[in-house]
Amino acid sequence: MYQDDVASVLVTEQQISDKIAELAKQIAADHPSDGTKADLVLVGVLKGAVMFMTDLARALPVPVQLEFMAVTSYGSATSSSGVVRILKDLDRDIAGRDVLIVEDIIDSGLTLSWLLKNLASRQPASLEVCTLLRKPDAVKVDVPVRYVGFDIPNEFVVGYGLDYAERYRDLPYIGTLDPRVYSS
Ligand code: 5GP
Ligand code: MG
Ligand code: MG
Repeated sequence: MYQDDVASVLVTEQQISDKIAELAKQIAADHPSDGTKADLVLVGVLKGAVMFMTDLARALPVPVQLEFMAVTSYGSATSSSGVVRILKDLDRDIAGRDVLIVEDIIDSGLTLSWLLKNLASRQPASLEVCTLLRKPDAVKVDVPVRYVGFDIPNEFVVGYGLDYAERYRDLPYIGTLDPRVYSS
């Protein structure tokens, strides 16, 4: 059972849903829907951002369109190099659109920095970032992140979309794993 693998709960299900309501309010205030502008486009980064993206989309009181990208970063399993390859691109053109990148977590920020450059080159009207989690190293690189759910310590976390070897994404909260999990 997952319970035996989880060492600590860092962010509870309730804290996540309260935070999403808060973020949704801020985002909606910044992107009022006045009937003249095209809908905000949420760009979710697969697979980690899926849970956050779907909950955020439902909490937002303004209409949004959902797009997904899948990218892979060259480098080791635990640290990213900043060299990114697109595995799945957007289905639509974002030129002239208000775009919000939805991320699960920002660690080194290298992946996001690449993604921002890539999407900016497609001439969106605006481009911003919303991340559920942010680690301390993320402040070292200069990536503008407008919406942040939780600043967390420099620990490897799983749950609510985040995996370890493709497991634990379906945990409804964010937690750390027992060291035993990594060694088995
Ligand atoms: P960055 O380029 O910011 O270093 O890497 C971000 C990506 O690394 C995230 O989208 C996520 O896939 C992965 N990552 C970074 N920290 C963690 C973590 O604590 N847990 C998990 N499961 N993935 C992480
Ligand atoms: Mg991610
Ligand atoms: Mg992963």
